[in-house]
Amino acid sequence: MLSCREIPDIASDYINREGSRRTRMMMSLHLAQCKDCRTYVRGLKITRSLISESIREPVADELLQKLGLTNPDRDGSFKEPNE
Ligand SMILES: [Zn+2]
Repeated sequence: MLSCREIPDIASDYINREGSRRTRMMMSLHLAQCKDCRTYVRGLKITRSLISESIREPVADELLQKLGLTNPDRDGSFKEPNE
């Protein structure tokens, strides 16, 4: 069984539907019985969608740092090609 401390490590994989099937299943099981982690994952999802909408705003970086999240995909590939 996963502990709450392991959730942040695998939450982004879970949201991105990456990671092993087993890990995601264990995550689902944990979320089914842990309200705190459900809230955490929901917050993470909302944050991600906000960030992808406002990716050019510098506040996104601040927000990530505040939440203790990093963005390893940050390689510039999100830019519009026709800009
Ligand atoms: Zn938990």
